Amino acid sequence: MSSLFIAGRWVAPLAGEFLPVIDPCTGTTYATIARGGAGDVDLAVCAARRALQGPWAALSATDRGRILTRAALGILAHAEEIADIESRDTGKPRAQARAEIDVAARYFEFYGGAADKHAGQVIPFLSGHQAIVTREPLGVTAHIIPWNYPAVMFGRTIAPALAVGNAAVLKPSEDACLTILRLADILADAGLPDGALNIVTGLGEEAGAALSAHPGIDFITFTGSPRVGTLVQQAAAATPVRCVLELGGKSPQILFEDADIEQALPVIVRAILQNAGQTCSAGSRVLIASSRYDDWAPRLADAFRATRAGLPSENADCGPLINATQHARVRKFLQRAVEDGIPLLAEGQLDASLAAQGYFVRPALFGPVPRDHALAREEVFGPVLSVLPFEDEADAVALANGTDYGLVAGVWTQDASRQARLSRALRCGQVFLNCYGAGGGVELPFGGVGRSGHGREKGLLALEEMSLAKTVVQRYA
Ligand code: NAD
Repeated sequence: MSSLFIAGRWVAPLAGEFLPVIDPCTGTTYATIARGGAGDVDLAVCAARRALQGPWAALSATDRGRILTRAALGILAHAEEIADIESRDTGKPRAQARAEIDVAARYFEFYGGAADKHAGQVIPFLSGHQAIVTREPLGVTAHIIPWNYPAVMFGRTIAPALAVGNAAVLKPSEDACLTILRLADILADAGLPDGALNIVTGLGEEAGAALSAHPGIDFITFTGSPRVGTLVQQAAAATPVRCVLELGGKSPQILFEDADIEQALPVIVRAILQNAGQTCSAGSRVLIASSRYDDWAPRLADAFRATRAGLPSENADCGPLINATQHARVRKFLQRAVEDGIPLLAEGQLDASLAAQGYFVRPALFGPVPRDHALAREEVFGPVLSVLPFEDEADAVALANGTDYGLVAGVWTQDASRQARLSRALRCGQVFLNCYGAGGGVELPFGGVGRSGHGREKGLLALEEMSLAKTVVQRYA
C-alpha cells in the first residue's frame, strides 16, 4: 500500500482511500496506490512553498547540482530493481525498462551538471547604466505526467525544475507510478531537502485537476492527451500561470526514392513498436515515394510479420497496452480500419494464450491508407502503422504537415539539399535525418506545435522554461 510523499515524509491520503494497481499483462490487481485529493494537493503545495523559504532555498546552485548528481548515481545503483518495478507496472519489455532507467539517471546527471552553469546576462545599455538579467526559480512548479514512460518522464520534468531551485509538486499517472514512488526515496537519500519534491498520486480529475487549479502554483508542465492538456491550460489561465504542454503526435517517416531502405526498415519498425506504440513521438505514418511503393511496402510487411508482442520477461518487440480503456480504443481503430476496407498488409505475432488475457494486441500494418482516414490523421497510441504513398517532394511535405499534430518527423534521403529543404518545411519540433529518435535525446530540446503542444522540455532550454528571467538595471556615477 503506497502513500503520498509530502514534505519529505510518506503520509496517508486525507480521505484514507486507495486505488488498485493493475498488471497490464493479466488485467489483475496486485498493489494499491493512495487516492490523493484536493486536500492532499493543498498540503503538497504548502510544503513546496515552505521549502522555498527553508534549507532548499539556501543551497547554492553547485549544491543543488551535487544532489541531482548523487540522485543519478543512486538511480543507477538500484537500476535493476527499478526496472523490475517499471516493467511490471507498465507491461513493457524488461530490457526496454532497464534502458529507460539509464535515461532517467541521465536526466539527473545532465541537469545536475548544468545547475551551476545556467548563467544570466549582462546587456549593453545606456551610458552610466548596466543591466543584468539573472535567472531565478519560478517558485512552486506543478508537474502532471502520463503512464507511458514513468521513470523517464520523472527525470525529464523534475530534474530541470530542481536544478534551477524550484520546489515541485508532481501528479503522476494513476495507471503507472510505482517507479516514481521508489525514485522519491532515492532523491531523499541523495540529500534533497524536505518539501523540494512532493508527490500526490491519484486520479486525474481529482488530484490532477486540483493541482492545475491550485492558486499556490507558479508554473505548470503537463504531458498527456490534447483533451486534458486543454483543461489544464484553461485551469492555468484562471490564476494565471504559464504552462508547458507536451501532447500527442502523428509523426511521419518520409521515405524518398533514394532512401537507404536497409537502414531505414528496422528503425521504422522500432519507432512504432517501441512501448507498443504508446509513445508521443511514435513514427505512426510511413510516407513512401510512389515510385517505390510496390517494392518497399511488401518489405515493410515482411519486417512487420517478424515482430512479436509478449510478456516483459520475453523481451519481445512490444508488450501489452496499459489498460482496458486503451485496449478498447486501439481495437476500435483496428475494427474500423477493417470495416472501411483498408488493406491489412501484415500483422505481428501474439501467442493465443496472451491474446486471451490482459491488454495485448497484435502489431498491425495498414496500407495504402486514404489520406482522410482516421488511421492517417488520428493518434492511435498503439502498435499500428499506416503506410501512405506520395507523388513528389511538395506532396510529401503537404502530407507530412497535413494533420493537427506537429511533434517529430523522420526524413530518409541521401540528397543533402533535400534534407535542408525538408528540415525547414516540416512543421514540427524535431526532425531526424536518416535516423529517428536517436538514443533518448536528454540533451535535445523537445516539444511540439499545434495540437502537439507548446513550450520546450529537455536539453538546456528546459532550464529557461522553468526559471524566471529578472532584469536589474543599475545606474552608476
Ligand atoms: P491523459 O491526458 O489522460 O493523462 C495524463 C495525466 O493527466 C495523468 O497523470 C492523468 O491522471 C492526468 N489527468 C487526467 N485528467 C486530468 C484533469 N482533468 N486535470 C488534470 N490532470 C488530469 O493522457 P494519458 O492517457 O495518460 O497519455 C496518453 C497521451 O499522452 C497521448 O496523447 C500521448 O501522445 C501523450 N503523451 C505526450 C508526450 C509528449 O512528450 N508530447 C509524452 C507522453 C505521452
